[in-house]
Amino acid sequence: MRALLAANWKMHLYPHQAEALLRELRQLEVEAGAWSFPVVVCPSYLYLPMAIQLLSGTSYQVGAQNGYPGEFGAYTGEVSMAQLKAVGCTHVIVGHSERRQYFEERGELLRQKIQDAQRRGLKVIYCVGETRPQRETGETLSILETQLREALTGIEVIWENLIIAYEPVWAIGTGLNATPQQAQEAHAFIRGWLRENGASADKIPILYGGSIKPSNAESLFAQPDVDGGLVGGASLVAADFWAIAAALQKAKGAPV
Ligand code: PEP
Repeated sequence: MRALLAANWKMHLYPHQAEALLRELRQLEVEAGAWSFPVVVCPSYLYLPMAIQLLSGTSYQVGAQNGYPGEFGAYTGEVSMAQLKAVGCTHVIVGHSERRQYFEERGELLRQKIQDAQRRGLKVIYCVGETRPQRETGETLSILETQLREALTGIEVIWENLIIAYEPVWAIGTGLNATPQQAQEAHAFIRGWLRENGASADKIPILYGGSIKPSNAESLFAQPDVDGGLVGGASLVAADFWAIAAALQKAKGAPV
C-alpha cells in the first residue's frame, strides 16, 4: 500500500498546545480506530519525546522535520539522524523548500542526509517542488528532475525507505493548492524518473503537499499517482487533519 499521510507542524506550538494536539489525535484514533495507512506526525525536535510517549500504543508514527548526518560531533545546534532513530523516530523530512530557501540546503548535504538517515533505518520524506516563476516559465518538470537527480544519484538509495513529497513552493502555506491535474502531472513525472533510475517506482509513496485542506483533499488524493499528503497548516487542527485522513481513506478505497 502506497498511501501515507504526514503532518508537518513546522516551528509551531507551545508545549501545552503540542500536548493537547497529541492527546486529541490519540483520542480520535481510540474512538474511530486506526487508518489502514501510516500516519506520521512530525513536530519540532523539542516535542519528539512527548509525541513518541503520548502516541505509544497507537498506530501513529513520529518523524522529525530535519536531521544532520552522522552520530555525534561538534555540530552545535544540530540533531543527528542517529539521535532521532534512538529516541524512536521512524521518519525524517529532507529537502523541504523552507530549508532550501532559508538554510540553502542542496546537493551534497541532501545526499548525505538521505544516505545517513536511510542507513540508520529512518524513512526519508524527500521534498521537491518548483517556485511560482519556475512554473510560469514552464520549468516545473526540469526543476523536479534537477532536485531528484541532485539528491538521489551518486549515493546508494534504499528505495524501500524513500517517500517523495511533491510540494510546489507557491502552494505551501498560501492557501493556493495545485489543481489535481497539476499534481498528477508532477507525480507521474516523478514516478517515471524513479522508474528510470532503478527504483520499484510502483511501491514508492509520492505525497502531495501545499495547502491541503479537508475541502480539497479528496480531489487531490483521487489522482492515480497522488498517494497521500504532507500537511502543514491543516495538521495543527486535529479535526482537520483527521478529515484529510478520511479523504485519503475514501479516495484510495481501502477499508477502514
Ligand atoms: C508543508 O509545510 O510541507 C506544507 C505543505 O504546508 P501547508 O500545508 O501549510 O501548505
